Amino acid sequence: MSLDLVISQARLQDGAAPVDIGIAEGKIAAIAPRIDSDAPVREARGGLLIRGFADSHLHLDKACILERAVNRSGTLKGALEAVTEAKRGFTQEDVYARGAKVLEQAIGQGTTLIRTQVEIDPVIGLAGFHAVQQLAKDYAWALDLQICVFPQEGLLNYPGTEELLRAALAQGADLLGGCPYTDSDPHGQIARIFEMAREFDVDLDFHLDFDLDPGWRHLDEVARQTIAFGMQGRVAIGHVTKLSMLPPEALAQSVALLREAGIALTVLPATDLFITGREFDHAVPRGVAPAHRFHAGGVCCTVATNNVLNPFTPYGDCSLPRMANLFANVAQLGQEADLSACFDMVSGAAFRLLGRDPAIRLGSAADLVLLPGASRAATVAEIGRPLWGMRAGRMSFEAPAPRLLWP
Ligand SMILES: [Zn+2]
Repeated sequence: MSLDLVISQARLQDGAAPVDIGIAEGKIAAIAPRIDSDAPVREARGGLLIRGFADSHLHLDKACILERAVNRSGTLKGALEAVTEAKRGFTQEDVYARGAKVLEQAIGQGTTLIRTQVEIDPVIGLAGFHAVQQLAKDYAWALDLQICVFPQEGLLNYPGTEELLRAALAQGADLLGGCPYTDSDPHGQIARIFEMAREFDVDLDFHLDFDLDPGWRHLDEVARQTIAFGMQGRVAIGHVTKLSMLPPEALAQSVALLREAGIALTVLPATDLFITGREFDHAVPRGVAPAHRFHAGGVCCTVATNNVLNPFTPYGDCSLPRMANLFANVAQLGQEADLSACFDMVSGAAFRLLGRDPAIRLGSAADLVLLPGASRAATVAEIGRPLWGMRAGRMSFEAPAPRLLWP
């Protein structure tokens, strides 16, 4: 067989013996302990080879705006107001330039699949959506970008928003998001969003319950409508910070509710830690939903970036191993199995949530990322930095390990 490239001695599973991988015409053409070939060789030296990381929730359109939008209170309200004001100045070119910067960083961190949330309302119109659509085309050489349009400023309270969301879906947006906590009629918004999802046959992804009061929540209504509309397996919810305040029995009931409704949970630790609990002046709660409990309970769970350098999260480098490490640290997880679960939440589970196969198998596209560590748990514990990546057999980035210059 004629190969274009051989990757030598890569591990596909923790603890597995290293294998050689032959690539031909952009696809994986051979996997064997040793491959004899005249093709060029790229050495993996026992490192872990994965399909890449998947960021299941990332706002490109409002990234990198700290110099023009400041959240003085540090609260959710402060963040929403700062972005609403800054958004008046957003243009398609501006969103494109900031989004490109974030995507280039994500590519270098080994991310190969992203669901990006795009705000739609009468002020920004479709400018952000069109910019992100162009980004999806221009960066298809390195990653897949799934576009989720949603009404950040509310839907039923903001005339003109629904028509724009419909236009974006008609023009190829991949799915629809909801944000009931900013709507004057949260249950009305949830109902309308489900009706639109049925009409356009798209999945749903809600921003949900962004506070620490367990006394009320929109989760039960989303679960009820998911079942009523027969959308099990097609609905994701993000944040759901109230889940962090539940005692064990109530938490177990919520795990069962999500599992029965087939709803996926995305936790966004950097934002949730930064924004929630501002009403406390000491003993501040962490405000991060215990995704590991849901993951262990059979719910599809992911950890994602959410925001980069904006009033919701004034940090960010797009590293998903760093985000998994942050979650593990906050959730006090240190055992190997728990750290492996955290890895799954930024890779395997995130691929599945976004409808993709995370497995490396014969015949699949040679979309590959090499990690320096020998295990998934070590990658989370040490924030393993990917060394290189390729898409369809073509190299997409290189980030060699530092080389010490001994005297
Ligand atoms: Zn978000």
